[in-house]
Amino acid sequence: MQKIGIIGSGTMGSGIAQILALKGYQVIIVDIEEEALKKGIQRIEKQLERNVSKERLTQEEKERALSLIGSTTSMTDLQVVDLVIEAAIEDMEIKKDIFNELEAICRPEVILATNTSSLSITDLARATTRPEKIVGMHFFNPVPVMKLVEVVKGEDTSEETVSTIKEMAQNLDKRPIEVKDSPGFVVNRLLIPMINEAALLYGEKVASAEAIDKGMELGANHPIGPLALADLIGLDVCLAIMKSLHENLEDDKYRPAPVLEEKVANGELGRKSQQGFYSYS
Ligand code: NAD
Repeated sequence: MQKIGIIGSGTMGSGIAQILALKGYQVIIVDIEEEALKKGIQRIEKQLERNVSKERLTQEEKERALSLIGSTTSMTDLQVVDLVIEAAIEDMEIKKDIFNELEAICRPEVILATNTSSLSITDLARATTRPEKIVGMHFFNPVPVMKLVEVVKGEDTSEETVSTIKEMAQNLDKRPIEVKDSPGFVVNRLLIPMINEAALLYGEKVASAEAIDKGMELGANHPIGPLALADLIGLDVCLAIMKSLHENLEDDKYRPAPVLEEKVANGELGRKSQQGFYSYS
């Protein structure tokens, strides 16, 4: 594989494009917004420049990587690619439309991967005519830093597709784990309920936010406490994942903590709104 198409030039799409280009792949980023493409490329330039200033990268490596990244608002430019990784917004109908458009454009053997955090790979795949070529390739944020990729096998995904994507993840210096299509996959199924439980403790005034976080840092060796982590992820994102676990696993143990609902309703979304469990202003 040499040419990779990325759909979506946001946080994840630009991060994925960056690591691919650094490994010498030619990348084409597609977004519906010119402005998003511009911002995505600027984000990559800034990141690479930072790496140059920290002497993790040479100026030549930076320039080579940037020269390998193209951007467009026209999906038809993906006729030439060997793989597509979709990282558009988290909306099943939008993703189905994108995948239907892609299957009309890309060669039949091309794998169409999605970076979805919560949507069913099986449902998405069954909206296409090549369900065996549809797979989850779930990167973590920030993409250049986080080692894990969850490779999610839908009910119709072929073994060959899974092993190609695992190999691709390894080529990018990531560590893939294979996961069956199930709500939250592995990491969010474990992580978000832990954050929710921390929010319940906070709401019940069992301990302060600082004490809860210190508890998990010092008592469980977590590098960051659950409430500080929730502020980093975004309380709206945590709530949406918790709601999706609750709905899809049909178990009340996944009911979102009232304090999480209240904070999101008040616009307290964590770092991005300067206020979450902590204040950042
Ligand atoms: P984002 O909002 O930063 O970027 C999404 C981009 O997709 C935007 O630039 C938007 O213009 C573009 N887009 C929307 N509709 C499009 C379409 N039809 N065609 C092409 N581009 C379109 O989102 P993000 O945080 O980068 O998340 C992208 C995907 O990755 C989502 O599925 C999300 O669940 C998943 N994800 C996010 C994270 C995270 O921490 N942010 C982590 C893992 C996975």
